[in-house]
Amino acid sequence: MERIGPIMLIEGPNKSSKVPYSRSLYLDCADKVLIDSGADPKSLLQIEKENGIQLIMNTHYHPDHTSHNYLFPNAEKLINPIEYETAQSIEGIARANGVYQEWGPKGVETWKQNLPSRWVKSLGQLTGTYEYEKEYNFSGIKVQFLHSPGHTSGLSCPYFPDLGVVFAGDYDMTSFGPWYNGTDGDIDDFIRSGKRLLELDANTYITGHQKGVFTKEEFAVAMETYLAIINQRDEKIERYVAQGLSFEELTSIGIFYPKRTLDNGILKTWERTGIRKHLHRLGLTVPELSRVYTNAK
Ligand SMILES: [Zn+2]
Repeated sequence: MERIGPIMLIEGPNKSSKVPYSRSLYLDCADKVLIDSGADPKSLLQIEKENGIQLIMNTHYHPDHTSHNYLFPNAEKLINPIEYETAQSIEGIARANGVYQEWGPKGVETWKQNLPSRWVKSLGQLTGTYEYEKEYNFSGIKVQFLHSPGHTSGLSCPYFPDLGVVFAGDYDMTSFGPWYNGTDGDIDDFIRSGKRLLELDANTYITGHQKGVFTKEEFAVAMETYLAIINQRDEKIERYVAQGLSFEELTSIGIFYPKRTLDNGILKTWERTGIRKHLHRLGLTVPELSRVYTNAK
């Protein structure tokens, strides 16, 4: 298991490469703190057996970061203050994921039937919230949960000022590019928060998926390529709009997800929500047949 000082990196299968898994951090100290619970459940249970897990801090509510909370019924489980309420109801999650916006109440019903029960159970076990930016001290390990909106509105990136380490989570530097496709995601916030991570006094960046550990220099180079994908999406969409495509046609090409995967309900949903954000950002409108449900409660 890789270690950076007192921080242990716990992997999910295949380098934590994708949903439903992600990398977790374990703070090897008397407070027994786990950050995110998306790692391989076998490894997490092993840690629990050997070291104990008393407190779980979730960076955000997505399933690949929270789904194994339920394995530790006795641990305290905290999430960021913006997403605590969202995570309390399936309805709230459906709205944040764009399911309601794109398909309305009927779509939400269908989506509910395919929800992984361990995720629902894990969110149901959340016990409260932590504070953004505050310096927590876990048996001498100082950490701040930096508010890093964009990927979701509540995402936090844990920053260890004394160790010069940042857990960049879903700033994962993968070739897929930035993900901000929920109705709680925001492209401009995503860019701003990404830039803030680079301004921190840190030399080690740990991502939640794939490669894992970057030096600051490597992370800066990767960030440039990563954020540039946003502009490439803009350009593609602009080109297609100029050709006169309708919203239905535009969302069947595969701007975010490979075309062949767009018959999957949730990926199609995120293809639509993502393209909607770019159209809005570009100030463009296209003909659309379907109705958009507003997210207001
Ligand atoms: Zn996420």
